[in-house]
Amino acid sequence: MATAVVDNPRDRRLITLAGILPDADGLGMAVDVANSLTSGQEMSFDYYQKYHHLWLHGWPGALGVAFALACFARQRWRVVFACFVTFHLHLLCDLLGSRGPSPADLWPICYGEPLFRHPIWLWKGQWRLDGWQNTVIFLVIFALSLWVAVKRGYSFVEVFSRRFDSAFVGVLRKWRERFSSPSLSD
Ligand SMILES: [Zn+2]
Repeated sequence: MATAVVDNPRDRRLITLAGILPDADGLGMAVDVANSLTSGQEMSFDYYQKYHHLWLHGWPGALGVAFALACFARQRWRVVFACFVTFHLHLLCDLLGSRGPSPADLWPICYGEPLFRHPIWLWKGQWRLDGWQNTVIFLVIFALSLWVAVKRGYSFVEVFSRRFDSAFVGVLRKWRERFSSPSLSD
């Protein structure tokens, strides 16, 4: 996604962030842990349950995150657009496969929150967060991203470090050479 829309690492990093940031509303868990440590009471996860999937899992959050991240971008409008889309990809993945251990633990997407209570979306077929479907999707996306990395010369490692990334892509390209022309290496 990010590789197709913008042409520089800074913007690609921002777009990647937009796909992760929605779950920052789960940071309430840190408050819960701190509360229980300081008060000595049993862990309750109140904040986590109250705010996770509510503050940053709707269109108000999507707009907020997209415009906030675009402030740091080079290609601003492209980044707003790409962040908005990536953010929604995250919501879609949550809707499809973020169920808890029991079949009743469905996670709804409250798309109007935190401004409006509606609409609320729920998919009864939602699979488990640790289900095989998520593993398959992860592996497919991972393979695709390696393929794109070899073609374009940069990968998702760039988000962490550009130096590691060029080393990583170098290794990938060497592998490709070895597999695509075995006769040469003999
Ligand atoms: Zn989420």
